[in-house]
Amino acid sequence: MMSDLNVVSISEAKIPAEPFVARHMIDGAWRVSADAATFERTSPSHGSVVTIASKGGKADADAAIAAARLAFDKGRWSRTSGKDRATLLLKVADLIDRDRERIALMETLESGKPISQAKAEIEGAADIWRFAASLARTMHGESHNSLGSDFLGLVLKEPIGVVSIITPWNFPFLIVSQKLPFALAAGCTAVIKPSEMTPATTVIMGELLLEAGLPAGVVNIVLGFGDPVGTAMTQDRRVDMVTFTGSTGVGKAIVKAASGTLKKVSLELGGKNPQVIFPDADLENAADAVAFGVYFNAGECCNSGSRIIVHEDIADEFVARTIALSRKVPFGDPLDPSTKVGAIITPEHQKKIDSYVQDAKAAGANVPLGGSALDVPGLNGQFYQPTVVTNVAGSMAIAREEVFGPVLSVLTFRTLDEAIDLVNDADYGLSAGVWSENVHTCLEFARRANAGTVWTNTWMDGFAELPFGGYKESGQGRELGKYGLDEFLEAKTVTMKIGKSRDPWVPA
Ligand code: NAD
Repeated sequence: MMSDLNVVSISEAKIPAEPFVARHMIDGAWRVSADAATFERTSPSHGSVVTIASKGGKADADAAIAAARLAFDKGRWSRTSGKDRATLLLKVADLIDRDRERIALMETLESGKPISQAKAEIEGAADIWRFAASLARTMHGESHNSLGSDFLGLVLKEPIGVVSIITPWNFPFLIVSQKLPFALAAGCTAVIKPSEMTPATTVIMGELLLEAGLPAGVVNIVLGFGDPVGTAMTQDRRVDMVTFTGSTGVGKAIVKAASGTLKKVSLELGGKNPQVIFPDADLENAADAVAFGVYFNAGECCNSGSRIIVHEDIADEFVARTIALSRKVPFGDPLDPSTKVGAIITPEHQKKIDSYVQDAKAAGANVPLGGSALDVPGLNGQFYQPTVVTNVAGSMAIAREEVFGPVLSVLTFRTLDEAIDLVNDADYGLSAGVWSENVHTCLEFARRANAGTVWTNTWMDGFAELPFGGYKESGQGRELGKYGLDEFLEAKTVTMKIGKSRDPWVPA
């Protein structure tokens, strides 16, 4: 099919001749599955097998949980000093920097994301490990010295214990880096299950942890599917906490599974994130941020700015500007350093994206750009065109559900109240953005939007220092910042009597 889009056909970079072999990391050793089962990952952009991974079963999950429990209970990590933990986390950060190219290549081959973006994510991940090292060293509890002359109260911060870490395929290395270094800074031990689509870079992280000198059993990795590995990791009584990033549906299933043993559950789930554009906005910047927001990671992003709410007076002009920019976004072979939009994770997911667009069309929406798959010359993968859908009603599925593809829905508004109503009329509450040169508009929006993150005159900037998480069905708990560490800590109250023992309760 001919196209006026900026298509990047096959790059000069070659995929490795041999697939990456991924095994479980249990108690400091690399192991195949107890039943020797494996599964393959086919690159979504090139159509060839890039990884052969051990396929974990119940026995493998069980061994990993046992190792993490023993490592925690023996104090192999939980009783080390903050200084020693920080030293190890900093070493891991340096090793991530050293291996950035290797990690980025596997991330791109398994996920289909652009190689330049993958490199930036790995760099960002190393920065998070360094930030977590600073927390390992500065974390402390509280003292209460005003309980009366004969009492001193202490609040100790202690690691929560064994943590199950379950991650999705869209940012495999970055997301595990938003969890694991904080868990380790706190003194926890962990069992990690990466997505079955993207096991390789978590395995590389395991290699780096061992190289850095992490004691055996402190971090364990089990590869495989939600059932049976994920379910074992969420039901087992030896696990104290589950931290999960993924779909809201699986998040709800995990809350149910963990309820049997009342584990703490922390969740980073989906979003339907709006950007609201007022007529006084810098429209050039706003249009660029809208293109970035919706096409970044091919829209397969919890933070995707998948709906915009534009003031009626500027809607036509703004949509025309956004479409013109969309045509210029380089998309195609993710191995080409100029590519900004790569492949879609699986053929099934591509069909799902397309069905949202076709259903919206059938319900009366217009599709002035894209709206179908596109073959990239020379590549045997699945790609979806940058797509803009206008005349979208707030009740349509495309306006309410996560499409998770490069598809922008356009809604309009007349007053700030109307815009806020549209923003908050959602089951999700992950992030929201506002574009206006008026500081009062931005402040009012920031206060009234029901979202864990609000961006004013920007989109999707993140910092290791700032917490990230969702309102409503977008999740519970926070990652990053000092809040990210708190998730993995218990508070223990120690009440101490000073001097003679207390007045007798039993009369003499
Ligand atoms: P998913 O929910 O299908 O899978 C996520 C992980 O859970 C995978 O490792 C999977 O194997 C595992 N899993 C599946 N069923 C399980 C079960 N019953 N018990 C335990 N584990 C199970 O999600 P996905 O398709 O990999 O990722 C896309 C989703 O992730 C989107 O909804 C996206 O919004 C969300 N996400 C959220 C954030 C955030 O920070 N809020 C970030 C990235 C992605």
